[in-house]
Amino acid sequence: MKPVFHARLLNDYFGDPCLFIRILHEKRAILFDLGTIHSLKPSELYKITDVFVTHTHMDHFIGFDTLLRAILRREVPLNIYGPPSVLPCIQGKLKGYTWNLIEDYPTKINVFSYNGRRLTHSVFSAKNRFRKQTLSKSDSDGLLLKSPMFTVRSVKLDHGIPCLAYSLEEEFHINIDKALLTRKGLSVGPWLNDFKKIIRKHTEYGEQTVRIGNKDFQVSEISDIARITRGQKISYATDISINKKNIARLINLIKGSDLLFCEAYFLDKDYIRAVERSHLTAKAAGSIARKAGVKKLELLHFSPKYSECPDKVIEEAMREFHG
Ligand SMILES: [Zn+2]
Ligand SMILES: [Zn+2]
Repeated sequence: MKPVFHARLLNDYFGDPCLFIRILHEKRAILFDLGTIHSLKPSELYKITDVFVTHTHMDHFIGFDTLLRAILRREVPLNIYGPPSVLPCIQGKLKGYTWNLIEDYPTKINVFSYNGRRLTHSVFSAKNRFRKQTLSKSDSDGLLLKSPMFTVRSVKLDHGIPCLAYSLEEEFHINIDKALLTRKGLSVGPWLNDFKKIIRKHTEYGEQTVRIGNKDFQVSEISDIARITRGQKISYATDISINKKNIARLINLIKGSDLLFCEAYFLDKDYIRAVERSHLTAKAAGSIARKAGVKKLELLHFSPKYSECPDKVIEEAMREFHG
């Protein structure tokens, strides 16, 4: 199975949390957290359409200006999701600049703030010099984004302040049966992307056609080359107090993930400090991942006090994860 999500952490264990996920065939990427993003190329920054911020502590949000600078004349809006603090923080950042010459830019920043029950949609448009407009408020169970290809869900957790964890899930995965394709006298090509888009969008194909070479084919006649399997699930969780309610909610969100990115801020020997600072320990991260049936665990966000011994943090989490 060729994965559609390609995830990479932008910084090392001691750097700002930020996960970049490129979405294959969509010319688009998403970010979980918005710490330092200087390692991204301009072409990568330009592809970012959706940013999911856990909370607005500086190490998770300092990349906002860099991102805005990179997409400032883009037609495609930038969507930012986060806990309630994300809205005043974006407004504050935008107020830090002067915006008198941008009225004819197409730029729009949609902000979706989620308090665990309600989703508030606000927009900052260049044509209004980035003044805030509230568009809607609606009840939400945590489903923040739904597209034909994937969904993003979140849950509100506690980090002394509200903090969101996220799960990105491909609706289903389409594998192409190459042997059957050959038997039908067809060969692989860019047309398969159009074909997959139709399969994702529709349950019945009616008169839908796809162009292969210089001939149109009915999708319904060749739909049997698509083998549908379970989609990929990637979760992201950081800056979470160790308490029963948090852990139960988090496990419910991330269960069955193929890949979990999770903080491991403290070692278990510094458990008291972890409780004071509202962070997970490496041991807790490993235990959460195991209980949630996660297939692969990747760690991030270690306290600088372990800069000489990151291996200890990794070892503690992995020992717990593998049981
Ligand atoms: Zn942090
Ligand atoms: Zn924090």
